[in-house]
Amino acid sequence: MMKFPGSALRLATALCASTCALTLSAAPAALAHPSEDDPATAHFLANEAIMVSAGETRILFDPLFSVSYGYPLVAPEVRAAIMAGTPPYDGVDAVFVSHVHGDHFDAEAVNAYLAAHPDVILVGPWQARLDMQAAAGWDAAFEARIHALPFIASPQDLVLAADGVADAIRVETVHIPHAGGPGRAGIQNMAHRVTLNGAATVMHLGDATPEPAIYDTHSDHFAARTTQHAFPPYWVLGEWGGETTRARLNAQAVTGIHIPINQPDWLDASGEDFFTEAGETRPIPAHSHD
Ligand SMILES: [Zn+2]
Ligand SMILES: [Zn+2]
Repeated sequence: MMKFPGSALRLATALCASTCALTLSAAPAALAHPSEDDPATAHFLANEAIMVSAGETRILFDPLFSVSYGYPLVAPEVRAAIMAGTPPYDGVDAVFVSHVHGDHFDAEAVNAYLAAHPDVILVGPWQARLDMQAAAGWDAAFEARIHALPFIASPQDLVLAADGVADAIRVETVHIPHAGGPGRAGIQNMAHRVTLNGAATVMHLGDATPEPAIYDTHSDHFAARTTQHAFPPYWVLGEWGGETTRARLNAQAVTGIHIPINQPDWLDASGEDFFTEAGETRPIPAHSHD
């Protein structure tokens, strides 16, 4: 297996760390379960933007951002379709934000999205709501639809209704520090583990650190539920390798995200799975119930 070059990791995290720092100052239909014919699916949009669909339930991770920092933006026509709610971006139930860096989150765009889609719930760090309140298009009426997660270490659980089902979306989120070391400690990066329709569990880690100690701290959280498909940033997958990543996250499959426009050579050689092209999908197998 390809060994991840440490210098490349430092370069990658330094790139995001230095560029991301720039944003700091800106500061009821019947439930259709996924089936073998229609499995839950992850759809890659760009950078760390993913849509996960499972039956009637659809969620978006980090879909609305406006700054590249060397990473691909969501294509303008895709962003327009998300904002307009045209297929396949119709019927979105919830939007998840990992953290407030500009390559993941645009507060004004999220405000506009919530205004245009009055049934959509937002789940994100407390810092996201602060930025939204300060951005154009804020409406106090959004408060009722925002789950702003406090900046605390312990895992936080939510149960969200969707499509007329009271517990269609189960959320188990934990703060995992941003990659880049103590200089990023002020950023509230959240790793969301989300179970759709009780059938498919996915995990989105934002810009999580590859430092193993924090994952050891939260080993009970990761052990508490098996994730069918996790989406760690590529530097985690590169540094740990697939086997260790799956074991540490208690995930059956992993696909790396946040791939730079200038893709590092080791990606292909590593043999690991990455979302590199917008429009790629991955099927998410249902839970086995035994
Ligand atoms: Zn970041
Ligand atoms: Zn990032």
